[in-house]
Amino acid sequence: MPSLALTFDDLFVDNWLAARPVFDAFNARVTFCVSHIHTASETQIAELIFLQADGHEIAYHSRTHPKLKPYLDEHGLDHWLEHEIDAGVAEHRALGFPATSFASPFHQSTAETRAACAHRFAITRTDGPRSVNTNNIEDRIYTRPGPDNTVDNLGFADIQHHAFPGWPWQIQLLDRIAEHGGTGVFTGHDIRGRKSGPGFYSTHRQLRRLLQAAADRGIRFQTLSEFALGRNSTTTDSTETAPNPAAAQSATR
Ligand SMILES: [Zn+2]
Repeated sequence: MPSLALTFDDLFVDNWLAARPVFDAFNARVTFCVSHIHTASETQIAELIFLQADGHEIAYHSRTHPKLKPYLDEHGLDHWLEHEIDAGVAEHRALGFPATSFASPFHQSTAETRAACAHRFAITRTDGPRSVNTNNIEDRIYTRPGPDNTVDNLGFADIQHHAFPGWPWQIQLLDRIAEHGGTGVFTGHDIRGRKSGPGFYSTHRQLRRLLQAAADRGIRFQTLSEFALGRNSTTTDSTETAPNPAAAQSATR
């Protein structure tokens, strides 16, 4: 079953919520990979609960988003696991977000971080889309996660990104997913109503174009954990995939 796992990183919660109509128009469920949740406002937490109740996944993206190599050089693996993984995972879970999936900050990982994360997460998103070329596209179209439950990114979900290779390449990736029949992971950040200033993002119009191009090719949309746990997003009943509907009902919006 060809599918696309769209991921959006960091904490652009207000703008993610504003993009709901775009996702809903395609029945697309995606993964929001959240860091810095301890700095989120009550409104932002309520918005994340709302997105989760829609069937989107709230995944883990570290606690403070440090660069990996200098952190490991200075503090070591155990310190990273304690402070950047386990402490933040506990914060997510206390708020009702399961932290089933992990997106490595800056797409950085080592053999030891990947092995340690394999014990903690059903899936870890690792290398970024810049290392994709015509020779390794199919290596990144998955029927199941790779060693240590990892998947590398295939494409960009940030169309406004200086490294975005252009729509012909984007369409080629979607064609290969459709032919191959597996899952490709695309990575993005912010989603804005229109083009505005610097940053990594897609506009609603650009996101709609991507979703339409995928839908035109029979590609379905899955969250990272749906992919990792072997569930295809064939259901149209979002309540079935919402882990915490009771919490959503208590949300203020
Ligand atoms: Zn990030």
